[in-house]
Amino acid sequence: TDRLHIVGGGMAGSEAAWQAAEMGVDVVIHEMRPKIGTFAHQTGNLAEMVCSNSFRSDDDEQNAVGLLHWEMRAAGGLIMAAADAHRLPAGGALAVDRDPFAETVTARLREHPHISVTEEEVTGLPQEGHWIFATGPLTSPTLGEAIRRETGADSLAFFDAIAPIVYADTIDMSRAWLQSRYDKGDTEEERTAYINCPMDKDQYEAFIDALLAAEKTEFHEGETATYFDGCLPIEVMAERGRETLRHGPMKPVGLTNPHQPEVKPHAVVQLRRDNALGTLYNIVGFQTKMKYGAQTSVFRMIPGLEEAGFARLGGIHRNTFINSPTLLDEQMRLRSRPNIRFAGQITGVEGYVESAAMGLLAGRLAAAEMQGRSLPRVPQDSAMGALIHHITGGADARTFQPMNVNFGLFRPVDGLKGGRRGRKDRYKAYTDRAKEAWSAWLANS
Ligand code: FAD
Repeated sequence: TDRLHIVGGGMAGSEAAWQAAEMGVDVVIHEMRPKIGTFAHQTGNLAEMVCSNSFRSDDDEQNAVGLLHWEMRAAGGLIMAAADAHRLPAGGALAVDRDPFAETVTARLREHPHISVTEEEVTGLPQEGHWIFATGPLTSPTLGEAIRRETGADSLAFFDAIAPIVYADTIDMSRAWLQSRYDKGDTEEERTAYINCPMDKDQYEAFIDALLAAEKTEFHEGETATYFDGCLPIEVMAERGRETLRHGPMKPVGLTNPHQPEVKPHAVVQLRRDNALGTLYNIVGFQTKMKYGAQTSVFRMIPGLEEAGFARLGGIHRNTFINSPTLLDEQMRLRSRPNIRFAGQITGVEGYVESAAMGLLAGRLAAAEMQGRSLPRVPQDSAMGALIHHITGGADARTFQPMNVNFGLFRPVDGLKGGRRGRKDRYKAYTDRAKEAWSAWLANS
């Protein structure tokens, strides 16, 4: 008989299994724990939360992750049902009592007539059958090797190196300007692909001081703290010498500040477009282990970023993920082996909620395919759609790094005021539009 095999019973695999089983498809979950552990997991439960116990904001009108909660609830999601059942008081956030949460998910899956669970490690990518790989940031090394052989070394990473991402409309363009170094590029778009923020000598020195003084996070026990080519944290570069950054990512050469053409900047911070929509920019070369609070204050010292809003702050973690923009089709199937889907953090989304969300989609898409149906395209205006569209096509494949859900991934709503003042109305418009699009998709699929 035709069964759906799901490898990894974490956030994504658990939700994928639930969705497919609820659609009437027989599912086998292959989970290596408790036989084989990871450095972060502590139990043999499915859907174990490895670190914080928060699903972040539950505000479905003003926050993109809250909207994702709403969409998963509307789709009968198991992860959200279990989180709601074991909710802890936490203001506007959805905090979860982690053990009963995971025990509930485990029990509901094990009791389900269409689901069975095998405790085993899967070590390769099968040629036959329907599979979803949701093995997460700590995919077992043997399987990681097998994935690497299939995708090529450049398309599978074992660490992320996340530079902060800024909402384009919060950058002060009366101080910053658009220009590629030496005006390189064949088109106007390429010649203006970067946003540049100039620093004079005093600003640069103060910035280096702040970087050196900022509080840093440590690697978790079991993560290897060796750095790899091309992605040293900026504060480590600064520790190597006060001028290192000025000769590295902050080189002031090949750039002319149109606001002050006669003044040569001492250093320049560059931001590069991060998505096709042009709503997000990453700060080039600024991957960091600084604590989140420190990052916000240090980066707002950069001229032009005084009022910056951050879609995501920087980080470096042990994280197995594939280059989804090149490897996956819009249904999350591996282009080279369409019998295999990927879901969860390994696809380059970041966080419990986002991982569960991608599991939800993968489970539904796989089940529908096995039933000989094809679902309508996931609407780009929903939070689900914004995220899947980003990882399978909207993101720049060359610099692809894990992404959490945020309003910068959404297509702008026309006719609304920009800037800080308009933000509340804008977010409400995004979430209203998303709920409508998602509800319509659920009704038609
Ligand atoms: P997981 O939940 O990790 O599930 C993957 C499952 O696959 C695991 O159960 C694993 O045992 C299993 N598996 C792996 N390889 C195999 C194999 N070969 N065969 C069979 N089974 C296999 N996110 C947050 O939102 N908040 C946080 O605070 C947070 N902290 C984190 C801290 C650490 C140290 C790490 C590594 C990640 C953290 N994350 C956090 C990210 C978090 O892991 C993901 O958000 C989420 O758990 C990913 O869901 P997933 O289903 O993709 O992977």
